[in-house]
Amino acid sequence: MHNDIQEILHSEQEIRDKVKELGEILTRDFEGRNPLVICVLKGAFIFMADLVKEIRVPLEMDFMAVSSYGAATKSSGVVKINKDLDVSVEGREVLIVEDIIDSGLTLSYLIDVLERRNAKSVTVVTLFDKPSGRSVDLDADYTGFTLPHAFVVGYGLDYAEYYRNLPYIGILKPEVYSK
Ligand code: 5GP
Ligand code: MG
Ligand code: MG
Repeated sequence: MHNDIQEILHSEQEIRDKVKELGEILTRDFEGRNPLVICVLKGAFIFMADLVKEIRVPLEMDFMAVSSYGAATKSSGVVKINKDLDVSVEGREVLIVEDIIDSGLTLSYLIDVLERRNAKSVTVVTLFDKPSGRSVDLDADYTGFTLPHAFVVGYGLDYAEYYRNLPYIGILKPEVYSK
């Protein structure tokens, strides 16, 4: 275990099993629907890569980068699009792939943007959820793991751009970000 990690919440193997399970459910639910799968960069890139291999329907992928935290550990509520989609979502069945939902502000902003661009449907899958952090009434359609109220890193999630490459999800020692 990395020295800056206080506790591992879900191991590499547990995440692998969960992603496979989510992929099977999405395969069933998106049968015959040709979705546009949108990865919310950067945090969701590892989840996206592992998940799409388990979704056995014809699909397209695109990538969008948004930021709401800067280098802080709490959402500012201000969401900025740093990289927009390359393709139009008009009339498309969109599947948003998120890493984690905390306040819900990022997701509610994204859903709003995609609906205003006339997506036919917007479905959300998130690997992690911290329902205790919610400031808007919003939930994903599909959730991997529910986490306690803590700042977590690994499996794509960062603190100040580090720790994304850890293969598990764990709680960062508070002394790492309070110094
Ligand atoms: P929200 O807008 O729901 O508060 O936060 C959404 C985004 O903030 C997530 O997609 C993620 O990028 C980041 N975030 C929220 N909670 C955590 C966390 O515990 N750890 C890390 N590394 N990022 C988080
Ligand atoms: Mg995210
Ligand atoms: Mg981040």
